[in-house]
Amino acid sequence: MNKPEPVNDRLEAALKKAEQVNAQKMEQLLSTRAGSGDRPRFARRRIGIMGGTFDPIHYGHLVAANTARFEFGMEAVILVPSGRPPHKEERVISDPEHRYRMALLATFSNPHFLVSRFEIDREGYSYTIDTVKHFKEIFGSEVALFFITGADAVLEIMTWKNVHELVTYCSFVAVSRPGFNLMHLNSNSEIDEKLLARTRLLEIPALAISSTDIRNRVAQNRPIQYLLPEKVEEYTRAFGVYK
Ligand code: NAP
Repeated sequence: MNKPEPVNDRLEAALKKAEQVNAQKMEQLLSTRAGSGDRPRFARRRIGIMGGTFDPIHYGHLVAANTARFEFGMEAVILVPSGRPPHKEERVISDPEHRYRMALLATFSNPHFLVSRFEIDREGYSYTIDTVKHFKEIFGSEVALFFITGADAVLEIMTWKNVHELVTYCSFVAVSRPGFNLMHLNSNSEIDEKLLARTRLLEIPALAISSTDIRNRVAQNRPIQYLLPEKVEEYTRAFGVYK
């Protein structure tokens, strides 16, 4: 019997392949013209931009991306791991390269899911306005963009940089875990009406899985199997990400 390849070598090979496939998916998305392919459900092409720390990415995020894509007829969902979030100075976040690589492994097999390095390659803080403007520029104004993220984050949206300009570039999909009162969003008088009109709410039972819980489990040597893709679990172990 041949000696099994060391885990890290196997993961590096899988990552190399995932990176190539990701680049091909992006090339294809950029070259697709409106109206080509299947008969579109909507007059304008729709693309989702999913922001989050993804520390680590788990099945809740993937189910949320898939549900949002289906419900709103998006051609693809681009996951954008945050680089240096302006509001997170107090918490230590894992190395962006780890978070990006785990997202690549998690999305590899889905032709409609991509990962972008845009925020992790940028200097300074990551602001959603810069990210959304970047994708607007590369896809063109005829593409409708949806910024997808956790409903907890959307509750704070009035504090985000240039939020009134941001709302002119995209709609928002606020995804919540069960138990989150979706009425919070509707009754939050601080969120102005223009923003609320551009925000859709989506309850995702699978979001009962949380990154915080996964990190705590690893630290306490409790199992994380079945909460996130196998390759991602393998990655956290091989690189000791949460130890
Ligand atoms: P976070 O700390 O990663 O998440 C906050 C909450 O939302 C957590 O409960 C998280 O669950 C959930 N969540 C996060 N991303 C999610 C996703 N894509 N799908 C489903 N649930 C998700 O996120 P954050 O740092 O608050 O920021 C979220 C996004 O908003 C990022 O893209 C960030 O850059 C953007 N943001 C922008 C500004 C600004 O422009 N000034 C300010 C704040 C946030 P898990 O822990 O399980 O992921």
